[in-house]
Amino acid sequence: MSVLNVFNITAGLRRELSFLAFALLLVLVFGSLTDSTLVLLCINLGVYVLWTLYNLNLLVCWLTRPSKNTPETWGIWGDVYYQLYHLYRRQRKARRKLAKMLKRFQQSTQALPYATIVFNKMGGIEWFNPVAGKLFSLQQGQDIGQRIDNLIRQPEFTRYISMREFESPLEFQKNQQRILLSITPYGGGKLLLSAQNITQRVKLDEMRRDFISNASHELRTPITVMSGYIEMLRDIDNASFNQPLDKIYAQILRMEKIISELIELAKLEASPLADKSPVLNLYKLLDEVYTEALGLDQGKHIIEFSIENDDKNMMIQGEYNELCMAFSNLMTNAIRYTPENSVITLFAYADGLGVSAGVKDQGIGISYEHIPRLTERFYRVDEGRSNEKGGTGLGLAIVKQILDRHGASFFIESTVGEGSEFRCYFPD
Ligand code: ADP
Repeated sequence: MSVLNVFNITAGLRRELSFLAFALLLVLVFGSLTDSTLVLLCINLGVYVLWTLYNLNLLVCWLTRPSKNTPETWGIWGDVYYQLYHLYRRQRKARRKLAKMLKRFQQSTQALPYATIVFNKMGGIEWFNPVAGKLFSLQQGQDIGQRIDNLIRQPEFTRYISMREFESPLEFQKNQQRILLSITPYGGGKLLLSAQNITQRVKLDEMRRDFISNASHELRTPITVMSGYIEMLRDIDNASFNQPLDKIYAQILRMEKIISELIELAKLEASPLADKSPVLNLYKLLDEVYTEALGLDQGKHIIEFSIENDDKNMMIQGEYNELCMAFSNLMTNAIRYTPENSVITLFAYADGLGVSAGVKDQGIGISYEHIPRLTERFYRVDEGRSNEKGGTGLGLAIVKQILDRHGASFFIESTVGEGSEFRCYFPD
């Protein structure tokens, strides 16, 4: 490896150095012949300095207004321009690509059906699409740089922005519109707001709820009348009618149960949040569910009641009757889907962050693909078995609705043939 390579000397500089060495040699030869070495050396250096200054000037001019035509020169300066030109081309290409991407991004966000606003951590609006302009009455140009909470003035929004807890979306009313909005922080302290007008969806939901509730109420009366008549007919001792009448009566009872559970669900849905101010004694609540389950079971299973450390003062917040109904539904299911003489446990424990309570059984279990759908209305793993056991397919939907209203979570774990655990988690 040569010495020049050790210092990473380029071919251009090597040429420049060779040229200088040659010039120096000429100066020394002519200088010694004419006895004017010093003068010739000074002239030589002067010419070189002027040449360098000339090239520096060319470079500054080119840098001020770069173009694809680089100045014509040679030696190391030729190399400098060659490298600069390639750098310039690469940058131009990258800039063009970036501009294209930005244009495409702007086009796609403009076409988005959602309102989109970009704002900084001080709340200053930096960009918004036409849908956002329409939804929040924002003016292009005029409102850029304005604080977002000065332009969207609903108190719920102001609170949401000031709390900076953007994990869950915000739903609020603006004039006649219902708006669902979420905020996502991203790079450089910027925040992306995306919102949609859900007025129509909310209206349809209300209509669906009202329809179910009204239909259920309307059906209740004729069914009560029919059940009265069937009961009367069953009292008449007529062997050939007894069996069909019993079957009709069982179906009427089933219909009554479905209707009352549908009405219950509609009532729960009508007010999405439960009054969580009452502090409830969980031990007392579960004890009531346990006593009721013992009566329903009539000694067919071993029902256990297990509260961590037998803590009679374990507390949760919520509505007593609703929570009683949720745990009762879980107990009824355990009794329904568990073979006789096996163990069913009603449990509760605290973990420092919240309270877990629920029911564990050693029953038939549920295959994993059904678990995510169990809380859907009328979803049943085995419809025949559910009907035969007096199920309606609404029990777990009611449990989920009640827990949602309490800000609680619902966890289901199950193994086919081993049993299931239904756990309700109430965060502190
Ligand atoms: P159902 O009235 O049919 O019991 P649910 O909504 O309460 O309706 O439950 C939905 C389905 O989940 C049931 O049909 C049943 O298949 C299954 N399931 C619920 N609880 C249990 C359990 N403890 N063990 C096994 N399967 C269960």
